[in-house]
Amino acid sequence: MEQRKGRQIVFFPLPLQGHITPMLQLANILYTKGFSITIIHTHFNSPKPSNYPHFTFHSIPDALSESDGLNSDLVAVLYHLNTNLVKPFHDCLARLLSEDHKDPIACLITDAMWQFTQAVANKHNVPRIVLRTTSICSFLAFAALDLLRERGYMPLKDSELETPVPELPPLRVQDLPEIKTSDLEHFYGLLANVIKETKASAGLIWNSYEELEQDALATSRQVFRIPNFVIGPLNMYFPAASSSLLSQDKSCMSWLDKQAPNSVLYVSFGSIAAVSETEFLEIAWGLANSNQPFLWVVRPGLVRGSEWLEPLPSGFMEMLGGRGHIVKWAPQQEVLTHPATGGFWTHCGWNSTLECLCEGVPMICQPSFGDQRVNARYISHVWRVGLHLEYKLERVEIGRAIKRLMAEKEGEEMRNRIRVLREKTNSLLNQTGSSSQSLEKLVTYILSF
Ligand code: UDP
Repeated sequence: MEQRKGRQIVFFPLPLQGHITPMLQLANILYTKGFSITIIHTHFNSPKPSNYPHFTFHSIPDALSESDGLNSDLVAVLYHLNTNLVKPFHDCLARLLSEDHKDPIACLITDAMWQFTQAVANKHNVPRIVLRTTSICSFLAFAALDLLRERGYMPLKDSELETPVPELPPLRVQDLPEIKTSDLEHFYGLLANVIKETKASAGLIWNSYEELEQDALATSRQVFRIPNFVIGPLNMYFPAASSSLLSQDKSCMSWLDKQAPNSVLYVSFGSIAAVSETEFLEIAWGLANSNQPFLWVVRPGLVRGSEWLEPLPSGFMEMLGGRGHIVKWAPQQEVLTHPATGGFWTHCGWNSTLECLCEGVPMICQPSFGDQRVNARYISHVWRVGLHLEYKLERVEIGRAIKRLMAEKEGEEMRNRIRVLREKTNSLLNQTGSSSQSLEKLVTYILSF
């Protein structure tokens, strides 16, 4: 813990699990660097202040109803929040700026998706730094969306999915970060503003590391001509557990203890992705028929139209004789660290991807939407530490992919490659490591305001 710096940083996370976690990890890191920390947050998906007694929390009303919050149209929710929060956020920041018994505010750090906060920051004359919680390569794909639309790649056409996109190698049309929404125009409009306001900000923080995304970083420095700080993986400093919105079922750890080394396939599609009942059953039978032990996170809401496990045939788990274990939410980082875990069937969310890279666990990639598609392409074709399950979710295909990853030479090679990457991540936080040096530059930069 470094000496207190007498300066305050105000954070504003986007209220989604994959965004809250890295933002609170960053807040913890900057706390250890001596800053005092204030978190502005929505009622919806509020973090748990009791897990962070060293921070000050301020909740602002988001005008979201319970059903809006559960709305599967993520774009509609984000659009709504970016519109409704302008005044509450403005007023909250004004109050914080008027508090003279607190450390003076050095800057605001907000999620890139909070595009409206740049205008509020300008109005109050407070520097705004952006945290982008995805990979650099996927944000560059977002930044190119206007151009890709102009050139006719988007909206995506089924007949062109395999077509390469020479503007963004190695992506193909199907890897472009589109999202299912009732209003694609809002999605494009929101992203255009996110990119514009990121360019107008005082700096950009990446939860990634230079050695992993060197080329993308060079391009990012051309596209975003502001200081870029590459300080991740943030999960190496602080695990994700304390920011978990759902409670983690630790029963799976004793189940893992009974399994052979590298034998278990961990299956989780993160906090938002959902599947149809038919897809769910194909996954279940693919896992059952694979004869491989598996730990499966079935989050309530994962199966559209079902509460939890109702679609499973009765007697399904008993039939497996203990070879499978299902939980609603796992202590993911602990699971990935466990010696029994040999593979991760993932939706390729960026936090999950970084956690895998840090623990050396190879992947089966099944991206759903947005940045996950770009990540999957990089995992399978650039870093070559996972295989891409590209087509219809079908039990025989699934069984084949599990065998390739867990039992064949191809999987062994991916495991070896990701372990080499894990060794590299171990040195990132050393005094001379690229991420720790970039963090020092960020601290100096914030102190210069
Ligand atoms: N996670 C967890 N338990 C689970 C599933 C996920 O703790 O059972 C955590 C995981 O470790 C990661 C986050 O939830 O930190 C998911 O973020 P990611 O970016 O991978 O995906 P998203 O949820 O944003 O789609």
